[in-house]
Amino acid sequence: MGLRLTVHRGTQQIGGSCIEIAHADGCRIILDAGRPLDAPDGATGLLPASLDRSRPAIVFISHPHQDHWGLIEELPPAWPIWTGAGAAQLIALTGDVTRRPLNRTFETWDARSKPVAIGPFTITPILTDHSAFDAYMLLIESEGRRLLYTGDFRRHGRKSALVDRIMACPPSDIDVLLTEGTNLGSDKPVKSENGLEKDFVELFERTKGRVFVAWSGQNIDRTVTIYRAAKQTGRTLAIDLYTADVLDRISEGTRLLRAGFPNLKIIVTRGLLSNYRSQGRQDFVERMIPNGISARKLEGSRYVVMLRRGLIHDYQSAGVVPTADDVFNFSMWRGYLSEPYHAEALEWCKAAGAEIAYIHTSGHASPADLRAFAMAIRPKIVVPVHGVKWDEEFHGFGRIRRLADAETMDVP
Ligand SMILES: [Zn+2]
Ligand SMILES: [Zn+2]
Repeated sequence: MGLRLTVHRGTQQIGGSCIEIAHADGCRIILDAGRPLDAPDGATGLLPASLDRSRPAIVFISHPHQDHWGLIEELPPAWPIWTGAGAAQLIALTGDVTRRPLNRTFETWDARSKPVAIGPFTITPILTDHSAFDAYMLLIESEGRRLLYTGDFRRHGRKSALVDRIMACPPSDIDVLLTEGTNLGSDKPVKSENGLEKDFVELFERTKGRVFVAWSGQNIDRTVTIYRAAKQTGRTLAIDLYTADVLDRISEGTRLLRAGFPNLKIIVTRGLLSNYRSQGRQDFVERMIPNGISARKLEGSRYVVMLRRGLIHDYQSAGVVPTADDVFNFSMWRGYLSEPYHAEALEWCKAAGAEIAYIHTSGHASPADLRAFAMAIRPKIVVPVHGVKWDEEFHGFGRIRRLADAETMDVP
């Protein structure tokens, strides 16, 4: 008897994550079925070839980023898929807005979930801090063996206390720690979301005109950071219908930011309005309208305005064009600026003479925090995933077993 671990994809790259843990009796669980970050839009047939689809398996998705769930539609329909309740909402929303509604449904756990027992496995989701909402580490127990999969995590976001708590009181006797290493090899300092909030306050105070900000509507920490800074400086944050939809779906029964909060307006743009109508979601739009604002009203120094390429056309036709008094802040990974989708908003503002700012912090742990986390868990073996610099930066993690994609390892 024993457990066999296979990292189907992720030992040499960031994203496209897919890990299998198999019991000698044939029962298998799959951790994440992610889409590779460099996969062309619309490409299919991307599941790792080493993943055997002829036998049953149960899938656990750590968090709602596509590089962890983006291939679920390619999995055999009979395989159950588990994820957090909030994550399930956000995954479904991505399908709805891109007009590729998901065929799959999820089994879900909530943030205070008890362990899930399936066959010889017990899986305990542990809520963690990451730029994705409702992100989990997964503790897998079977046959007296214990594996901890970090998923993606950080220790400087609005939920950093969750990671501090795991480190202060780590799960005991971990045999294998499967840890991400996104930021290995970069020595850029990571700022906390609170630190970012101060930077935004300073930017909002000194800017004469509007502040356009590009960020991911699913990055709830960032939405909250920008909202808090806007409120403190007497500005109003204007978000698009999609970001309002994100907040609406996950805030029920919580104190989370949503439509109806002071200093928050929902910009009703023509493009998204027709998108929601064609989804048959007129009721959602109707609910947003009391807190809505037409793009035409986004004038003067009172507003912090969400911006991305898809909104430019509607802004422009409503007479919203950047001026030299305005500022544009890109609040996502700088590497995205090499893609026209992200660069266009920046160029639009730059051409008008607006100042270009960059206030952002990583969604992933710093190299120091990655090492501190591994040291706190004290596993017998560390198996690296979700990184490109592991071969150079393996020191400080304890005993490492460097696997290749699709190589199997018997859990000792
Ligand atoms: Zn990831
Ligand atoms: Zn992620």
